Formats: sequence, structure tokens, C-alpha cells
Amino acid sequence: MNELDRRDFIRSVAGAAALSATDFAAPTVTPEAGPVFLATWPHGKPAADRAAEVFHSGGSLLDAVEKGINVPEDDPKIMSVGYGGLPNEDGEVELDAAIMDGTRHRAGAVCAIHSIKNPISVARLVIEKTRHTTLAGEGAYQFAIKEGFKPMQLLTPASLQQWLDWRSTPNHEQFWVNPANHDTIGFVATDGKGHVVSGCSTSGTAWKIHGRVGDSPLVGCGVYADDNVGGASATGDGDIMTNYCTSVSIVHNMARGASPQDACVDLIKHMAATDPRNREAFICVIAIDNRGRAGAASMNAGPKFQYAIWQNGTSKMADAIVVY
Ligand code: ASP
Repeated sequence: MNELDRRDFIRSVAGAAALSATDFAAPTVTPEAGPVFLATWPHGKPAADRAAEVFHSGGSLLDAVEKGINVPEDDPKIMSVGYGGLPNEDGEVELDAAIMDGTRHRAGAVCAIHSIKNPISVARLVIEKTRHTTLAGEGAYQFAIKEGFKPMQLLTPASLQQWLDWRSTPNHEQFWVNPANHDTIGFVATDGKGHVVSGCSTSGTAWKIHGRVGDSPLVGCGVYADDNVGGASATGDGDIMTNYCTSVSIVHNMARGASPQDACVDLIKHMAATDPRNREAFICVIAIDNRGRAGAASMNAGPKFQYAIWQNGTSKMADAIVVY
């Protein structure tokens, strides 16, 4: 499916609600396709490498995705994820993360958590230790502390300096309507035997209003995974993407037969068709199916969207398809 006009898309999205049980019932998995790890941006490469290492030393796919995402979370030089992430307008770092297990159809998420550098690991514990899906703000922080996470200052000298520079910029309040810096680590993985996991971790858009939550920790937006189909994740302007439930839209499109690549492109075309201003927006998505086929697309060439792919024992960076 290369061309999908808006009407078809809307019809097909509406049809998602009516997807029959058989759409999700029988995975068509190539036996032993081998694991595949896909992660956004250059910082995704060490993350994918770490995930592969964890997986090959006996970790589960969830362990692999979590530990892979820990790599940029721990790296102070990555200013859009974890420790060293750019703060909110008040100078406090607030992190968002989610992880979804496609077997149990179960996600864990934390939003706007402060002082904890590995929100993806807290999100993982939301799955394992609670029956909840999403914890926010102070509640997410208290949960992390109870689970033994150590609070720390997440601002680094470099991120503090960027915040101070922003504060001294005339009219800096306009960030409410003009998006500032972002990135994120979005991750999708399969074990090559039909199991998929999706994860996402971010400090969100820089200088955001205290309490702002983007797409990354929202199930169906920043992450989605279903072993019967595949998984997806997103990076870019979460204030826009949240309105399109990007990841679940991509996965449901794959359930109807689209390849991961076509499903990514279709979603982006739909976003442009519903609002032409979205053509200028920073929107990037990745997807994988339960056979290990991968796809990635970005709305425009604005930020050159690259993603890491680990497959057959080696990882490399690849350029996503630019739709407009
Ligand atoms: N999607 C993230 C957010 O809006 C940021 C990003 O991926 O660049 O919070």
C-alpha cells in the first residue's frame, strides 16, 4: 500500500475499532528470523548494541529494551534523555518514559518524574510490581524511591548553562507556542520469534511548562507493541503527535496488512492531510513487525532522521524515508 488518500486512511482508522479477532489472532512469523533492535537517533546505536548484548546473555526482550534505553539515560552528553536532559521552564528536569510488552499487552509508564535518571526502569517496575499503567509526577517519584532508586540532581553544568542562556533570551516566553529543542530515544525490538517490545524515554521538549507531558510516555502514542502484529515508537513534536496516537495507528495499519515502512509513511501522510501545517513539523516514527521487518519515516528533511538498526550480529545507522 503505497498511496493512501485521506478518506481511505480515515476509513481504515475507523475500521481499526472493528478489526476482527482474526487480524490479531495468528502471528505469521518467519521461524528464527533472529532478533532485531531499532532505536532512534545516533544515541540509539549504543542503546541497540547494549540491548543486543543483554538479550544474547540471556536477558528477556524487556530487559534488553530497558537496559538499552538506560545507555542514553545515563549519558550526560545526551541532552534530550535522562541525566543531562534539558529542563522545564523552571529549570527542573522532568522525565517521561514508557515500555510495552507485546505478549502481555501490558505497558508501564511514568510522566514528569524528577530526580530519577532512569525513568524507563521505573516504568518497567510499574508493569512488574503494580496493576497500574501510568504514574505521574510526585507519585511516580515516590514509587521510584520506594523501589530503591536514588534521587539525584539531573541538571549538568551544560544543561544548566543552556537553561540560563534561554532565560536571558528576549521574548523567551514564546516557547509556549514555538517548539524548542527535542529528541528522545524511541525503541522497538523483536526476538525474531514473534515477541515485540516498544520503549521510549525523554526529557521532552526543552523549557516546557511544568507538568507538560508529551507523546513519549503515553501508551499508543510514544509506544505500542502487540506480538500479533509488531511495535512502533515516535520522536519529535509530541504536542502534535499525541493528537494522532501515532504508534497504535501504525501498528493497527500493519495489522491490516501494511508493511512497517508503508505504515509509517501512511501515518505521516495522514497527519499532513488533516493539517497541512504538519508538513513543517518535526515528526519521526519507527516500526517493526513480528517477522523482524523494519520501517522508519520522517515528515520532512528538517532534522535528518537517522535510526540505529541491529540485525544479524551487527548495528548500523540508517536514514529514514523523508515523506515531504
Ligand atoms: N516526543 C518528545 C516530546 O514531545 C520529544 C522528542 O521526541 O523530541 O516530549
